[in-house]
Amino acid sequence: MVLKIKSYRRSRHIVEFSIDAKGKTRFFLHGRKAFLTYASVEISEVPDSIINVPIIGVLYPLAMTLGDEIVVDELDLDFYFSLVKLKKIISIFYPHLPVSKSNLTVFNIVKNNVKPNGFCILFSGGVDSTALLLNSLDGRPCLVTIWGVDIPLYDIYRWRKLADYIINLSKKLKLDYYFIAFYNPIDVTRLDAFFRHKMYGNDWWGGVAAGIATPSLTAPILFTLRKDLRTSPGLPKHLLYPWSDTSLIVDNIRVAGLSVVSGDENLSRIDKVRVIAEKEKELKIRGVDLMIRSCFKEGTLWNCGYCEKCARTITGLYLCNLDPNALGFQVGDLSKYFRLLKLHILTRSKKLEGKHVYTTSFIRAHYWNELKHLSKRDDPLVNFLQYVDFETSEYRITCLDILKRLLILTPKGYHDSITRAIARIIRLISIQHSRAGSQSNYYFRF
Ligand SMILES: [Zn+2]
Repeated sequence: MVLKIKSYRRSRHIVEFSIDAKGKTRFFLHGRKAFLTYASVEISEVPDSIINVPIIGVLYPLAMTLGDEIVVDELDLDFYFSLVKLKKIISIFYPHLPVSKSNLTVFNIVKNNVKPNGFCILFSGGVDSTALLLNSLDGRPCLVTIWGVDIPLYDIYRWRKLADYIINLSKKLKLDYYFIAFYNPIDVTRLDAFFRHKMYGNDWWGGVAAGIATPSLTAPILFTLRKDLRTSPGLPKHLLYPWSDTSLIVDNIRVAGLSVVSGDENLSRIDKVRVIAEKEKELKIRGVDLMIRSCFKEGTLWNCGYCEKCARTITGLYLCNLDPNALGFQVGDLSKYFRLLKLHILTRSKKLEGKHVYTTSFIRAHYWNELKHLSKRDDPLVNFLQYVDFETSEYRITCLDILKRLLILTPKGYHDSITRAIARIIRLISIQHSRAGSQSNYYFRF
């Protein structure tokens, strides 16, 4: 299949793209349009070869997954060769995907050469990017935050909270900040349902797209400001695992002579929490109140507190002597919280030869084992981690994946009733679990 991309409308801050796709490719797209808004940066003078970088960076991972060809009029030379390299890496990561069949046809490849003057940081407010910011303060970075990637565009309430935090933080640290709003045309849920089993159980966005797409979205800002980009990959460099958000992918991206570099590449997640713990008090004296926003769940809270990502972040903060309640996690009494977490993990573990074995994805097992090694036998709250082995099985096609596939293949008229039935089953299971697990209204969701 062929995907034809065109930027068809552009104003001072907004660019809209049309996507001409056919057949099965259309099945994985929400529509035929995508748009990007660059607040506080004027993009009307940015050349087409740069303005096309964001949409190609988003759609090329889709083309690699489906074995499609992308056709575009103009593209930057450095970015074009970056994608050639990335295609080789992704094909090694996922030999079961038709990556080698994918192709990028560009009618006019343009050499742009910009000399960098400083750097920007991709800042989401999570553990990784907060540690990167704190480690890079001497370089006076600009912060770039994208709305539409982990916070959907319709979730104005959560975005407003994050934007207010970033504006305050930037003012206190005397740094410039830039916001991007992005309408993602790709149906990530469908890609998860159809390709997760070919990607060792990884979700599609994290496994193939995020490390390529997210830095690409910043290209017009980097070009206009003449800045390199530093990102904060979720996995340290020494951990070789097929995942897009790693230095193996990110460090190979270049646009118009500007580099994308993964910062803190040798630090593990718990090392990054330590960086936050070291600098948090010093910043407080300067009037800067740090917050951590690591949760992807929808809701009115800064972090839900009960998803896997929240649970491991709260445990990490506690192990580094930080109070999660003061950093954006409203979990109240920590001893009660960790009692529930212990119950959750132990009831989901299998008992093998006297040991509790908790099976999860490779990346989650890595993070939890890090926390386990930091915990101590005499710790009153999290010593239970010492008795659990966190392990992974390579192929995990969950029941939920199968349900999602069924849902997608069902005629549209039946969607509502099936969705309601699934929601009811999940709610019943959740209620039973929360009754069995505790008297609390809260329960873990992982
Ligand atoms: Zn959460």
